[in-house]
Amino acid sequence: MKDRRPIMAGNWKMHKGPAEARDLIRELWEELSKEPLQCEVIVAPPFVSVPAAVEAARGTAIQVAGQNLYWEDKGAYTGEVSGPMLKQAGCSHVIIGHSERRQYFGETDETVNRRIEAAIRNDLVPIFCLGETIAERQAGRTFDVIRTQLQGGLGSMRLRDPVAFVIAYEPVWAIGTGHTATPDQAQKAHEFLREELRALLGPDFAAEVRILYGGSVKRDNSRSLMACPDIDGGLVGGASLQAGDFLGIIREGT
Ligand code: PEP
Repeated sequence: MKDRRPIMAGNWKMHKGPAEARDLIRELWEELSKEPLQCEVIVAPPFVSVPAAVEAARGTAIQVAGQNLYWEDKGAYTGEVSGPMLKQAGCSHVIIGHSERRQYFGETDETVNRRIEAAIRNDLVPIFCLGETIAERQAGRTFDVIRTQLQGGLGSMRLRDPVAFVIAYEPVWAIGTGHTATPDQAQKAHEFLREELRALLGPDFAAEVRILYGGSVKRDNSRSLMACPDIDGGLVGGASLQAGDFLGIIREGT
């Protein structure tokens, strides 16, 4: 039995406008409110849907996350959204360094680090994503790659509160592909990350921080993944867009 409270987070990517976001949260809560919740539930809608999502989640246990933020708090940065803005809008968490941002929007370990710092400065819990590509895995470089991403994202930060920090191990080859990591592959990566965190931030931090798995999590693989000793929940993309699918993952996995 793990002491860490699991997290099930839905990354809605560029799906769900304000009305759809509101409807989906209502559908989720209608079911989730019927039973004691065994995990934290977070949804990450697109920025324009955050206010509607926060409104729909008011009075429920569902928390709302941004999908990204810019590291400056304000200024002439057309198209960007800052930490104080997400906080003011009612977000509790923010996804940082998702592989789609690394792949399509030039995100690097250095910019990930600046965004994580901005999240923490603004009292937002970062959900720090990292993971290897298929080429990196096939070249036997998985651990090197995720160690570099972890160290680069953390930079010189000396984090103290493990509950206010979340890591998501998301192998790039598993995201949106249907090729889920096996529980053994995922567990090995999570165990490795926890070991690295022990060296970087101390044993207490490493023991308490939640490390989520992401990459084609579905209802039928949720239970076996979440049963692994170092997996503390899921970051779910495609299967979080329909209430029934996401509820199935939550129920099977916690
Ligand atoms: C994600 O977007 O973080 C993700 C894991 O997507 P999917 O579940 O669709 O693979």
